[in-house]
Amino acid sequence: MAAAPTAPPPSFSKSSLRDDLTCAICCDLFREPVMLSCMHHFCKACISRYWRGTTGPVTCPQCRKEFRSKQFQTNYLVAAMVEKVRSSTSDTYIRNLEKRLSESLENHNARKEDLLCSIRKDKDKMDIIKRVGADLQERVKGEFRALHQILQEEETCLLDQLRREQEEELEKVQHHLQAAESAMRELENNIKLLQQSNNSLTEFPQLSPCVEVNVAPDFNISAFSSKYFAPLQYVTWRKMFNSLKPGPASLTFDADTAHPSIHVSRDKTVAVECDVMTQPTSNSKRFLQCVNILAAQSFQSGRHYWEVEVGSSPKWDLGVASETVDRHARIKLSPENGYWTLRLRNGEQYWAGTQPWSRLQVASSPQRIGVYLDCDERKVAFYDADDMSLLCLFSKGPRGKVFPFFSPCITEGRQKPHPMKLLHYPSVVLSG
Ligand SMILES: [Zn+2]
Ligand SMILES: [Zn+2]
Repeated sequence: MAAAPTAPPPSFSKSSLRDDLTCAICCDLFREPVMLSCMHHFCKACISRYWRGTTGPVTCPQCRKEFRSKQFQTNYLVAAMVEKVRSSTSDTYIRNLEKRLSESLENHNARKEDLLCSIRKDKDKMDIIKRVGADLQERVKGEFRALHQILQEEETCLLDQLRREQEEELEKVQHHLQAAESAMRELENNIKLLQQSNNSLTEFPQLSPCVEVNVAPDFNISAFSSKYFAPLQYVTWRKMFNSLKPGPASLTFDADTAHPSIHVSRDKTVAVECDVMTQPTSNSKRFLQCVNILAAQSFQSGRHYWEVEVGSSPKWDLGVASETVDRHARIKLSPENGYWTLRLRNGEQYWAGTQPWSRLQVASSPQRIGVYLDCDERKVAFYDADDMSLLCLFSKGPRGKVFPFFSPCITEGRQKPHPMKLLHYPSVVLSG
C-alpha cells in the first residue's frame, strides 16, 4: 500500500518569516506596518503613497478588495516582530554572531586537540604497559624454566640411579638363577641315567660331576630402598638451593675496612660496635670517621643476593657502596655519594638512604635483611628475608665496582651492642 503523500510541515524558518513580514509594495521589511480590513499588511508610507491622489474608494494592492475610505490600523504585534527580524539580521548582530561562533569553534578545536593529546598519551602508556608486561612475563618464565630444569635434571639423575641399582640387583640374582638352572639340568640328566641303569642293572652309569652353586646373593630391601625413602622433596630442595642463580652469597667482612670501633669475629661473619677502640693497622681502605665496614667480596657484573642478620638491633645501615667512596671523611649516605642503603632508626623507622631520607612503610620488624644487587640492570633491592617481601628498591643503582656495605652504628647509652651477622647457607649433597 502506497504511503499517502504527506503535507509539507508548516514552515517557521527565518526566511519564511521574513517573507511574511515583507511589504508587497516596497519588497522590504515592513516599516510602521499597518493592516487593511482585508488583513493584508503594508508599510504605512507605502500604502499612503499608493492611495495618494485617489479620491473615493481605494483597493488593496494585494487582493484588490475595495474599501470606501482610506482606512488602516497600526499593527503593533507585527511591528515588534519586524523589529526582531531586523535586529537579528543587523551587522552588529552578524558580527557578534560571527565572533561567538569563531570563539566557540576555537574552543572546541582546542579541546579536541587536548583530547587527541590525552588519547595519544593513553595509547602510548598502554603500549608501554604491554611491552613491560611482556618483558616481565619472559623474565618470570625464564626464571621458572631454570628451576624446572634443575628439578627435571635431579629427577632424571635420581631415576637413572635407581634403574642402575635395580639392574645390578637383578643381574646378581639372574646370575645365580642361571647357575642353579644349569646345575638342575645336570642333576636331572644324572637322575635319568641312574633310573635307566636301575632298570637294566648292567653297569654304573657315567655321571656328570655335580656342579656346586654359590650361595644365593642376598637382597637387602632396606639397604636398596633407604636412599629413596629419604625426604626427597627436602633433599632436592636443598640441592636446588645450591643451584639458585643468584643463590645467597657467602660474604665475609673485610676487617681492613672496619672503623676502629668495629670488632670482627674470627670467622669474619660477625661485626659488632664496641666502645673500646682497637689500635688499627693503618690501612687506606679503612673507614675512619663513620662506623662502617665493607665485605671482602666485590661485584661489578651479574646478579647477586646476600642476607644479613640484624636481629633486634634498633639502628643500622646496610646496602652497597662504590669502591671509590671517601672512607676518611664523614659522608651522608646517598646514591649521589656512592651509597645505596636501607636504614633503621629507633627500632621501627625504616628509611631509604636518600638525601633527604625517604620513610618506608614496613609493617614487620625484619630480623634478616636480603640484599639483591643487579649490576647489569643497575638495581638494588632490599627484602625481609623471612618472607621475601620487598622493603625498598633503588632503580638507578651503581655503575662499576661495589662492595656490600654495613654500619652497625654507635650503640647508644648502656644498650647491649647488637652484632650484624653475614648469613651462610651450608651446601647439602645427596648422600650415597
Ligand atoms: Zn512598503
Ligand atoms: Zn487585501
